[in-house]
Amino acid sequence: PRLVDSSADGEDQAVEAALRPKDLEEFIGQEKVREQLDLVLKAARARGATADHVLLSGAPGLGKTTLSMIIAAEMGAPIRITSGPAIQHAGDLAAILSSLQEGEVLFLDEIHRMSRPAEEMLYMAMEDFRVDVIVGKGPGATAIPLELPPFTLVGATTRAGLLPPPLRDRFGFTGHMEFYEPAELERVVHRSARLLDVEIAADGAAEIAGRSRGTPRIANRLLRRVRDYAQVKTDGGIIDKDVAGAALKVYEVDARGLDRLDRAVLEALLKLFGGGPVGLSTLAVAVGEERETVEEVAEPFLVREGLLARTPRGRVATPAAWAHLGLVPPQQGLG
Ligand code: ADP
Repeated sequence: PRLVDSSADGEDQAVEAALRPKDLEEFIGQEKVREQLDLVLKAARARGATADHVLLSGAPGLGKTTLSMIIAAEMGAPIRITSGPAIQHAGDLAAILSSLQEGEVLFLDEIHRMSRPAEEMLYMAMEDFRVDVIVGKGPGATAIPLELPPFTLVGATTRAGLLPPPLRDRFGFTGHMEFYEPAELERVVHRSARLLDVEIAADGAAEIAGRSRGTPRIANRLLRRVRDYAQVKTDGGIIDKDVAGAALKVYEVDARGLDRLDRAVLEALLKLFGGGPVGLSTLAVAVGEERETVEEVAEPFLVREGLLARTPRGRVATPAAWAHLGLVPPQQGLG
């Protein structure tokens, strides 16, 4: 797995539990979502009611699971965590829903990947706190209505637009999570370093933050790899800019957070195709990767960083791409 991948691997899962902020106060950045959520939760508490259903949209690693746990903690409620892909049949969902306690928070990650029948069951559960459990098959099948205790559904998805409108409309509140600013990621790194008992200088935290692709999960992962390096190479010395830079050089994560694959794509585009336009398939062959890998793994970040553009005529490098790799665009080279 890539060091700069934003989805969680096994090691992340083990460590992340210890690094999660426990309340809204401790949660860094995302001012808008935090402020809005704070109001939703305070109002519900004042009414002595269960909080409205919450939809969180945003890329992996931005803190959606963490926020769902915070919602439960702030409401003094237990939480159940599951995901769309884990719910294959409507019956799986019925089993979960019917075992919820009053006020419980149900976190449904990747909610856009639930099966259709489960999705339809969820509509009714969200709106009326009721499900129809179908017993039997064919003409003899009967629907047995089942009352549910009021609960709060927290759904997470990469993009709210992926959800069918009837599902989206049943959420009382939608929070859009943005990529984090470098200064916010620095705070994440400092906080995690403190919890992991790692000594880090301000410029060391900035160095890691700048390479973390706007994503706290990646920041935490890079911090752990830099810690390894510091332990071995500097005998557990303080992590400063030089140590962080040297460590991430070993792991091939560059100053902007590009890894080897990202750089290979960019380099091929610049050196072999003069900056494009070049077709995706041609580019993929040049770097010896599958089309899908280039398109889905490398390109989104390169596009977001303004290094590569997808045009109708093919992939094109931006001036920033030439500058980042320290190369001179052909026109300028000739003049
Ligand atoms: P998601 O569910 O969106 O994939 P998570 O909630 O699992 O993301 O967060 C990934 C990691 O990043 C966790 O270890 C969490 O502690 C950390 N993290 C996420 N958001 C924040 C934040 N705002 N402040 C501090 N740490 C954060």
